[in-house]
Amino acid sequence: MYDLLVIGAGPAGISMAVEARHAGIDSSRIVVLEKADEHSFSIKKYYPDSKLVTANYKGFEAKCTGVMCIPDLTKHETISYLDKAILQNNLKVCYNETVWKMHQNEDKTFIVSTNKNEYHTKIVTIAIGILGKPNKPDYKIPLNLKDRALFDVTSVEITNAKVLVVGGGDSASEYCQYLAQNGNEVVLSYRKKDFTRMNDINRDSLLELERENKVKILRESRIASLEEKDEKPAVKFAEEILGEQTYDFVVYALGGSTPENFLKMLGIEFDGVEPVLKEHYETSVQGLFLTGDLTAGPKGGSIIWAFNSANAAMKKICRDYLNCKIDIEEK
Ligand SMILES: Cc1cc2nc3c(=O)[nH]c(=O)nc-3n(C[C@H](O)[C@H](O)[C@H](O)COP(=O)(O)OP(=O)(O)OC[C@H]3O[C@@H](n4cnc5c(N)ncnc54)[C@H](O)[C@@H]3O)c2cc1C
Repeated sequence: MYDLLVIGAGPAGISMAVEARHAGIDSSRIVVLEKADEHSFSIKKYYPDSKLVTANYKGFEAKCTGVMCIPDLTKHETISYLDKAILQNNLKVCYNETVWKMHQNEDKTFIVSTNKNEYHTKIVTIAIGILGKPNKPDYKIPLNLKDRALFDVTSVEITNAKVLVVGGGDSASEYCQYLAQNGNEVVLSYRKKDFTRMNDINRDSLLELERENKVKILRESRIASLEEKDEKPAVKFAEEILGEQTYDFVVYALGGSTPENFLKMLGIEFDGVEPVLKEHYETSVQGLFLTGDLTAGPKGGSIIWAFNSANAAMKKICRDYLNCKIDIEEK
């Protein structure tokens, strides 16, 4: 049983774990899960190398309330500062780990399942930023198919339609199950022969649907292009035997997710497009907090905002849940 599990190792997730260390929690009781193979993936990916990282970014005040703080720095210095925070605080960061689901037990502790492990924890903090996007295919999707070529099954109501799901992971199976249940004719296209990326439940459910003829699976199939025909997606397969086939909808499940879908999947309530947040960034789920860009509204925050939000969340976590103490002067 961990005390704190943090999802996302950017400035918010790292500082969350650092705050917990400074509140006296042992590093063995904290775990950070990062879906990329390195921390601060957004900074590494989106900042130009020559960028000056400003402390008062977008006009956010450069005043730090917690343990971590930066002045204006280069990109390299910013990453080194975060590297050191992980090292000096002996943080356990697990890379290439994607959260699949989360369950809250009756005693309010959590079970968090990933592609690699199952974690038991008292508190969860989500610090995944706002830059997540679903992965897109490498061919062009015609603009006028935007309501028929989808990246999840929640944005448009799909019933009694012919639907092609593309992918071979858990989302692909879950979409097939959901679409079949809603009376759709479902076809799944997957590049490989075996479904090695799915958990056992999803694989068994999918294969059962195939046996019942509720889902047709096109194994080892590749889509070469997508065109519009009579306002519908016409899919051209690379395999001659499959040729071109028209569907009412194509739903891609190629990995990645928008932060909104991820939070909803974890059971967090929304008010419109914003998650409902209570005091110190606690969500509608007791013991589940957000930090960083996720707490700063649609335009996102700054690095210092991320650090400060972690400090604010930690104050409540200490006061109400973990019986620790956090007492830091403003810098
Ligand atoms: C181009 C650009 C320039 C900027 N310049 C500045 C600046 O000069 N100064 C400044 O203060 N701020 C700047 N910002 C803003 C700053 O980068 C963000 O406010 C800050 O990075 C937010 O930190 P975060 O930890 O909330 O999110 P992020 O930095 O986005 O980190 C989120 C982390 O979570 C991981 N993750 C995502 N989804 C999952 C998942 N499902 N499971 C596990 N891990 C996941 C990501 O891989 C990433 O490592 C800039 C932003 C951009 C895009």
